[in-house]
Amino acid sequence: MNTYSDLHNSSQRNVLTIYAHADDEVLPAAGTLSLMSKAGWNVRCLILTDGGLSSSPIKGTRHQEADAAGKIIGATYEFHALEECNFSTQAVIKVTEEVLGRWQPDLIITHAPQPEKYGHRDHEVCAIAVSNVATRKNIPLWYSAPPVFLRGFEPNFFVDITSVIEEKVAAIGCYESELNKAFMQLDAILVLSRFWARELGQKDGYFEAFEISRQWVDANFFTAIANNSHQQVVKQS
Ligand SMILES: [Zn+2]
Repeated sequence: MNTYSDLHNSSQRNVLTIYAHADDEVLPAAGTLSLMSKAGWNVRCLILTDGGLSSSPIKGTRHQEADAAGKIIGATYEFHALEECNFSTQAVIKVTEEVLGRWQPDLIITHAPQPEKYGHRDHEVCAIAVSNVATRKNIPLWYSAPPVFLRGFEPNFFVDITSVIEEKVAAIGCYESELNKAFMQLDAILVLSRFWARELGQKDGYFEAFEISRQWVDANFFTAIANNSHQQVVKQS
């Protein structure tokens, strides 16, 4: 399994997250996005719906909450107004392609596709549509962990977010209108972050888990490895 602790060697690059609802992005990925932004990545969060159908009694605050979360993790947001529980894969493909034209991401992060009976219908439609676009456009794609019901999610990539766990908790805390959800509670956030550490065999630390759907490394990567190993051989002799 891979871990990804070296987010610091990147020059200016773009990561685009695409999620159905505001708050979907912070639960599985706030720590990773914060690390990326600190490492110089441009972090853009695309939200497909505007939260009108939320079960929360507090209405109409999701944009402000997202902006507050974005200030903490170093992300900017873009909202679209697709109809919750009723949008199609075609609608998501159209929005995604339009945003890609403007944003040109080096990496996309989205919901993990899951059988519909385990997940939210909107998450599933979003995952299918974004996977379609990323495949056609040949863009690296990571799936993030579902907040609950992990069936069908097969993480193969873990990010150590211990240094930014407080930022993650604070970013989630910005979504005041959603804090009544069980998986938004502090204990649930910490337990799941620790669960991924244990999955890696680590006793301590907090992690986020991803399933890499599409990613490659270019020839420079192997050249760098070859150069490094050569230098080490020279040093040893
Ligand atoms: Zn959602």
